[in-house]
Amino acid sequence: MSAAIQPIRGMNDVLPDQTPVWQWVEGVARALFDEYGYGELRVPIVERTELFARSIGEVTDIVEKEMYTFTDRNGDSLSLRPEATASCVRAAISNGLLRQPHRLWYAGPMFRYERPQKGRYRQFHQIGAEALGFDGPDVDAELILLSRRLWARLGLEGLRLEINSLGTPESRRAYRELLVEYFTDHGSALDEDSRRRLGHNPMRILDSKNPQMQAVIAGAPAITDHLDAESAEHFAGLRARLDGAGLAYRVNPRLVRGLDYYSRTVFEWLTDRLGAQAAVCSGGRYDGLIEQLGASPTPAIGWALGMERLVELVAEAAPPAPAPHVYLVPLGSLAEAAAMPLAESLRDAVAGLRLTVHCGGGSMKSGMKKADRSGAQFALILGEDELAAGTVAVKPLRSQEAQVALGRDALVELLQRVSGQ
Ligand code: ATP
Ligand code: MG
Repeated sequence: MSAAIQPIRGMNDVLPDQTPVWQWVEGVARALFDEYGYGELRVPIVERTELFARSIGEVTDIVEKEMYTFTDRNGDSLSLRPEATASCVRAAISNGLLRQPHRLWYAGPMFRYERPQKGRYRQFHQIGAEALGFDGPDVDAELILLSRRLWARLGLEGLRLEINSLGTPESRRAYRELLVEYFTDHGSALDEDSRRRLGHNPMRILDSKNPQMQAVIAGAPAITDHLDAESAEHFAGLRARLDGAGLAYRVNPRLVRGLDYYSRTVFEWLTDRLGAQAAVCSGGRYDGLIEQLGASPTPAIGWALGMERLVELVAEAAPPAPAPHVYLVPLGSLAEAAAMPLAESLRDAVAGLRLTVHCGGGSMKSGMKKADRSGAQFALILGEDELAAGTVAVKPLRSQEAQVALGRDALVELLQRVSGQ
C-alpha cells in the first residue's frame, strides 16, 4: 500500500454529519437575502493578483503574506481570493452593473495563508452582502439589521455589535499624523509589526491582536474625535437608525479593520465563545474602492461572516440531518434484481420520499441491522415470497407494531403518510 495523501494544513473537509448545519445556515441566509431584496452574485475563486493588491492594500497582512499567489501557464500572476468584496466590485464593473444601485450577496470559500488554529483556517467560507451605489447611512443600518435578523433566525444570542467611523481619507490624514506622533512617543512599547507599520499605515497598529500592545493602543487618540463634519453626521445617522430599531451597540474608536479600502462606517459582530477568534461578522463602507478600481466614483458598503465560526456557534440549534423514511432490504438474487426498479417506481409515486436501498447483499440479519441504524421508520423487506405474491413486508422499526405484508397501493399510501405528502 502506498502512503496516504495528506490533506493541506488549514483546509478542512466538511463531512456529512456536519453539512446539515452548513445547509441550514446557508438556507436561512438565502431566504433572508430574498426577503430583503439582495440578489446572489457568483464570482470566480481566482482573480488577477493586482485586483487584491490594489483594493485590500499592498501594506496589509493579507496582501503582504497571506495570499495564495501563482503564475498561470500564460505568465499572469493570479491569486485565490482572500475575500470577495474586491471580486464583487470587479464583477460589477466588468458587467456594467454600476449604472444603478445593486444589493448583492455571495457565499463561498476564501483562502488566506494564516497560522491555522481553531476558528482560523487557510480555506474558510464566507457569506457576504454588498450594497453598491448607496450613500447611506440608511443602507448601512439595513445591512446591520439584516445580520441581526440572521442571528435571530439561527437562534444565536449574545453577539455584541461594535461600530466605528473611519471618516474620509482626507479627514484621516490629520488623525494619522496624531497617531504617528503618539506611537512614536511610545516607540518602546511597539512590537516589530507595529514599528514597521508606523511608517506606511499607522492605523493598522490599532488592529493589532498582540495582547502586549493593547495598553498602548488603548491610550491612542480616538478617531471618532477627529471626524470631518459630514462623516460625523453620517455616523450619527447610522446610530439614530440603530437606536430606532432597538439594536444595542458599542462605539469602539479602535475598530479600524484590516483592509485598506474602508471609509466611514465599519462594524463587527463579536462573540465571547470562540476564544481569540472573536469576530463572527465584519464589514464596512468602501466609498473609494470602486473609483480606485477604475469606474466612476460609487459609494458602497458590505459585510462578510465567517461560516466556520458561525457554524460552531449554532451547531446545537440546527435541525438534525434527515433520516430515510424507509430502508429497503432485498433478500436473494431475484429480489436484489427487482429492488432498484421497485425503489425507482416508489420514488416516482411518492414525492419527497427518502428511501435507502440496501446494497451489497448479505444476510437478513445484517440487512435489518443496517435498516435500524439508518434511522428509518420502516424496513421494507423484499424476499422471494413477497416477490411471488407481489407484496412487500413492512416492518416498523420504531414501535412494537407487527410486520405486515402490503400490496403496491397500500404501500404507496403508507409511504405518502410517512413522508408527510
Ligand atoms: P480576524 O480579525 O479574525 O482576523 P478579519 O478582520 O481578518 O478577521 P475579514 O477579512 O473581515 O476578517 O473577514 C470576515 C469574517 O471572516 C471574519 O469576521 C471571520 O469571521 C471570518 N474569517 C476571517 N479570516 C478567517 C480565517 N482565516 N478562518 C476562518 N474565518 C475567518
Ligand atoms: Mg484577519
